[in-house]
Amino acid sequence: MVLPRPHVAIVGGGIGGLFAANALIAQGIRVSVYEQAPQIGEIGAGVFLTPNSVRHLQRLGLEPAVQKWGALVGRESRYFRHDGAPIAPVQVTDSSGWNATFGMHRADLVDILADALSKEVVHTGHRCTGFEQDGHVARVSFANGATAEADIVIAADGIHSELRRYVFPPSIPVAAGSVAYRGLVPHERVPDWPTDRWQMWLGRGKHFLAFPVRAGKLINYVGFVPTDEQMKESWSAPGDPNVLRREFAGWDARIHQLLDKVEITFRWALYDREPLPVWTKQRLSLLGDAAHPMLPHLGQGANQSIEDGMALATILARVDRKTAPLALHAYERLRRERVAQVQRGARENGMRYDSAYSDLGVRDAEITAHAEFRKRLYDYDVVPEATAAALN
Ligand SMILES: Cc1cc2nc3c(=O)[nH]c(=O)nc-3n(C[C@H](O)[C@H](O)[C@H](O)COP(=O)(O)OP(=O)(O)OC[C@H]3O[C@@H](n4cnc5c(N)ncnc54)[C@H](O)[C@@H]3O)c2cc1C
Repeated sequence: MVLPRPHVAIVGGGIGGLFAANALIAQGIRVSVYEQAPQIGEIGAGVFLTPNSVRHLQRLGLEPAVQKWGALVGRESRYFRHDGAPIAPVQVTDSSGWNATFGMHRADLVDILADALSKEVVHTGHRCTGFEQDGHVARVSFANGATAEADIVIAADGIHSELRRYVFPPSIPVAAGSVAYRGLVPHERVPDWPTDRWQMWLGRGKHFLAFPVRAGKLINYVGFVPTDEQMKESWSAPGDPNVLRREFAGWDARIHQLLDKVEITFRWALYDREPLPVWTKQRLSLLGDAAHPMLPHLGQGANQSIEDGMALATILARVDRKTAPLALHAYERLRRERVAQVQRGARENGMRYDSAYSDLGVRDAEITAHAEFRKRLYDYDVVPEATAAALN
C-alpha cells in the first residue's frame, strides 16, 4: 500500500519559510505557512543573493523575478582601505564564471516568494505560541486561538524562534561587540553612484558596505562600528544619521557622498549563536535563522536559509507520512555541518574586515586569497547532496 505524502506546516513566513514552501510544493507536498505579521510586508533593507542560492531560485522558475527586482553586481565590485586605496576585487561568480550575485531589498524577495504561492497556503496573523507532538501528529497553537495539525512542523521563525526551545534548551546569543547602521538612499539622490557593484571600505574596528537593490533604484548601505552597549537583537531600532556620519569622518570622500544624503538610519545589533548540536525533535525541525543565526560578514543569512529549504524539499520528496520524521534527521545531518562552516567563516571574515592586524598587508593578502573560499561557497549545490542523503 502506498502511504500519502506528508503534510508540512511551516511557522514563519520570512525568506526561509516562504522559499521552503515553494520548494516543497514543487515536489507535490501539501504545505501550510503560518506567519505572525498581519500581512507579508515591507520591512528590512538589503540582503545579498549569491550563486549557491540563486541556482535554486532558478530551479523554481523564480530567476526572472530576481533579475527584475534585484541588482546584479559585477566585476567592478571591490574592497578598499578606509581612505579609498583599492585592496582586491570581490568574488561575484562561482568557479565556472557564472555571475548570479544580486543585491535585493528583503521585502522584494519576500514578495517574490509569497506571490509564487497560492493564496490558501499562507496564513498571516498567526503567532505561534505552543507546540506538542505524539507518535501520530504534530500540533501548533497560535495566539489567536487557532491550532493546526501536520505530519511535520518546520520552525522558520527567525533568530528569536519560539519553537527552537522545543528542540534544544534556550541558548544565550553571542554579542559581536559591534552594531550596524543600515538604510537605503534613493539613487536619484546620488545619481553618480554606480549601480553595478558591491563596494566595501575597511578601517580599524569599522567597515562600510554599499550595494544597489531594487534594480538599482535604491542604494543599500551598512556601517559597522564597535559598541559596548547591550542592545536587543533588532532590525528596526532608530539610529542618528549624524552619529553615523561622525563614525566615518575622514574616510573616503565617496562614502560621504552617500552618507550626506542619509535622513533615516536604523541600528542593527550584531549577534549570532554557537552552532546548535541538534535541530530536530521527532516531527519538528529548525530552518534558517531559527537553526543558525549568523553574522552578516559573508552575506549568507538568506542564502543558507534557501539552501536549507531546497535540501528539505529534496529529502521529503522521497518519503511518505510514516517515514517523514526519520527523514528530518537526514536533512539535519546534511545541513548542520555546512552551515556551521559558514557561521564560523562569517565570524572570521568579520575579524578580517575590522582590521585587527598590526600589518595591514597581511590583511589585504588574506582578503585577496579569500576569493577561493567564496568560490567554494558559491559552487556548492545542495540538490545532489540532498538526493544522496535521502537515499542513505
Ligand atoms: C523584520 C526583519 C527585517 C530584516 N531585515 C534584514 C536586513 O535588512 N538585512 C539582512 O541581511 N537581513 C535582514 N533580516 C534577516 C534575514 O531576512 C534573515 O537572516 C534570512 O533571510 C533568514 O531568514 P529566515 O526566514 O530564517 O528568518 P526571518 O527572515 O527572520 O523570518 C522569520 C519569520 O518568522 C516570523 N515569526 C517569528 N516568530 C514567529 C511566531 N512565533 N509565529 C509565527 N511567525 C513568526 C517573522 O515575522 C518572520 O517573518 C530581517 C529579518 C526580519 C524578520
